[in-house]
Amino acid sequence: MENNCIFCKIAAKEIPSNVVYEDDKMIVFHDISPAAPVHVLAIPKKHIDSVLALTAEDESLMGHMMRVMANVAADLGVDEKGFRIVTNTKEDGGQTVNHLHFHLIGGRSMQWPPG
Ligand code: 5GP
Ligand code: ZN
Repeated sequence: MENNCIFCKIAAKEIPSNVVYEDDKMIVFHDISPAAPVHVLAIPKKHIDSVLALTAEDESLMGHMMRVMANVAADLGVDEKGFRIVTNTKEDGGQTVNHLHFHLIGGRSMQWPPG
């Protein structure tokens, strides 16, 4: 666990969250400030700062997380109309929590390009 990392604490259940999926490698929980009718965050349980910190050892973890997110999207009922998966990275990307996370957002029509 990384010191004072809010998502490490959520993964360890030291901070409560509304969990929609969990296994030994990852957890998916509702965003505390949803940007759409469906807005969950998928995080690896191990601390990784961002996609920039991924190593070859993380490749199977990333594939697993993508497949699980697609299943979660279906469970949450947004597979038919569609959804978006986003990972904001560093300042220009708008990253506010420095533990790798994927936003899964849906339930409304999205704009492109993002603001
Ligand atoms: P970022 O801005 O880094 O891309 O995304 C961080 C996300 O984490 C934001 O959407 C924010 O609402 C969410 N968030 C921050 N703190 C908490 C928390 O304590 N619990 C939950 N469930 N979500 C959080
Ligand atoms: Zn962390």
